[in-house]
Amino acid sequence: MTGVTAEKHDSFITPAGGGKVVMEFSGKELVRGEPDASSFPSGGLRATFEARGYTAWDPTSFAFIKEGSLCIPTIFCSYSGHALDKKTPLLRSMEAVSREAVRILRLFGDTETRHVIPQVGPEQEYFLLDKKMYQKREDLIMTGRTLFGAKPPRGQELEDHYFGAIRPRVAAFMADLDNELWKLGVLSKTKHNEAAPAQHEMAPIYTDCNSACDQNQITMELMKKVADRHGLACLLHEKPFAGVNGSGKHDNWSLGTDSGSNLFRPGSTPRQNARFLLFLTAFIKGVDEYQDMLRATVATPGNDHRLGALEAPPAVVSIFLGEELSGVVDSIINDTEYKSAGKRTLQIGVDALPPIPMDNTDRNRTSPMAFTGNKFEFRMLGSSLSVSGPNIVLNTMMAEELRQFADRLEGAENFDRALAELIRQELSAHRRIIFDGNGYDESWLAEAKLRGLENLPTTADALPAYIRQKNIDLFTGHGIYSREEVYARYNIHVENYTATIEIEARTMIDMLRKEILPATSRYGTMLCDGLAKRKALGLSCHYEEDNARNNCLLSDALSDACGKLERDLRRVPESPEEAMLFCRNVIVPDMQECRSFADQLETITSRDAWPIPVYSDLLFSEG
Ligand code: ADP
Ligand code: MG
Repeated sequence: MTGVTAEKHDSFITPAGGGKVVMEFSGKELVRGEPDASSFPSGGLRATFEARGYTAWDPTSFAFIKEGSLCIPTIFCSYSGHALDKKTPLLRSMEAVSREAVRILRLFGDTETRHVIPQVGPEQEYFLLDKKMYQKREDLIMTGRTLFGAKPPRGQELEDHYFGAIRPRVAAFMADLDNELWKLGVLSKTKHNEAAPAQHEMAPIYTDCNSACDQNQITMELMKKVADRHGLACLLHEKPFAGVNGSGKHDNWSLGTDSGSNLFRPGSTPRQNARFLLFLTAFIKGVDEYQDMLRATVATPGNDHRLGALEAPPAVVSIFLGEELSGVVDSIINDTEYKSAGKRTLQIGVDALPPIPMDNTDRNRTSPMAFTGNKFEFRMLGSSLSVSGPNIVLNTMMAEELRQFADRLEGAENFDRALAELIRQELSAHRRIIFDGNGYDESWLAEAKLRGLENLPTTADALPAYIRQKNIDLFTGHGIYSREEVYARYNIHVENYTATIEIEARTMIDMLRKEILPATSRYGTMLCDGLAKRKALGLSCHYEEDNARNNCLLSDALSDACGKLERDLRRVPESPEEAMLFCRNVIVPDMQECRSFADQLETITSRDAWPIPVYSDLLFSEG
């Protein structure tokens, strides 16, 4: 439940009597294991005295061989039967959405389909740094992000990195990574440079939701290992560098039948495709009703630096449908005839090349949930997040809406009329969640408020969604989580927030006390010595005077800010919820204060006197 992969290794060794052993492995061991579960977070699900946990083979995800070990993907539950992992609820949610989607398909006369499977393709962003530089930064090692660093003279202003030529060392890393991933059955396909210097992206070919989640975990692990072999460090943190683009993960999601047809693919014209419209309507209703829960699943301290920071979607959930599909929706709501603009083509100005038909969905990089032709792209995920959580919510909310629709339509006398009525009603009721404009625009937040959409800017605002009654009802109603299992997840996320901020704060203090303050003090003393000597010789000393004064003022301010952070850290309340709020309201601003003085000092300190690599050293170190 921490979001990272757990592994336990067993050797194939069994005593055979007479001091001998045989190397054997029984089917029983494959199917079930009994590891100690006492040291995993359980969110209060079990006391340590009942520490036994069970693993059970998940045969729907491929077993694979990694570094000479046969790896068996398993679910993990407690002695009392509570799920202690993300895989169990994910599998349950896949079952739920399949069951309800098949009910709907039957209504459309489909008697063949037995399963509907959520399909997922997660795009993974990351940074690569030179390992030697990385190792000189305690903050990167301890927290995965820089806690200090003035803006470099060059960031991403030239907009030359996105899709730019890939440097040889990075290309070698990418080729090696592909190779390792392919060996494990992960079909890594697309890779390119991202917006920020040293930032890149990898996208695999989509697959069933369960495998996609497992494969993304493997991908994150391998990115770090392979980077290490190339003398690089891979950063998966959401915001490794302030003032530079952060890293996200786009969760591309759709529903496919067991015979391979995509339920989110419109027909020859979207208007004609009633089935498509029904699934679309269910999705729109689901996102509107569970916007808070979707927001909560992507809430982490790392992601707080991204959402709404003009580089990632805002912390308000909305859906982008594109001009054409929104036109269809509005014509249904208003009962007017829809006039398609026809298949438009994009002229690209080179006569020798054929015109490219324009997608019926235009691109909108600012939307949290964008329809991209035959799938939805949930863009709020942070780069280090396990994709299971968001997919559990997408699957379950869809199961719930399809259940309601099936209940209603199964009893209808005239299916076509009931269907048309249902779609019109529900689209009207949930039209507010559709927004095709610029999500980065300030005015959107005001408008979203008028529409009654929720704005949950920080993790502390978002996490309580887990334990809202309607969301508990959603999960318990479909057998995804019990009430206790929901609370366990909530507790773990709340505690993780505080723990993360405290680690960052302690790392910051450590670096200030042991590296930055001593260095600025030495540098200040050197400036003062120089100043005294020059004065004695009657030389002019404007530079030395200014510099020494600024150094003193800023060092004092930094020392005071550090003292305040230390004092406040000792005041973090006991109760987990209060601790989370205290961290957000007091510790995070304290850290910002420390950082702002330290960053100003960096800009007025000579390069050789500054104790840690600066942003330009880090961001341009991979090549
Ligand atoms: P984009 O539209 O974001 O530029 P792609 O079309 O290449 O990119 O898809 C991005 C990711 O979405 C890839 O991992 C791809 O495999 C996945 N994807 C494509 N189609 C689907 C689908 N129907 N369902 C789920 N994921 C999909
Ligand atoms: Mg994308």
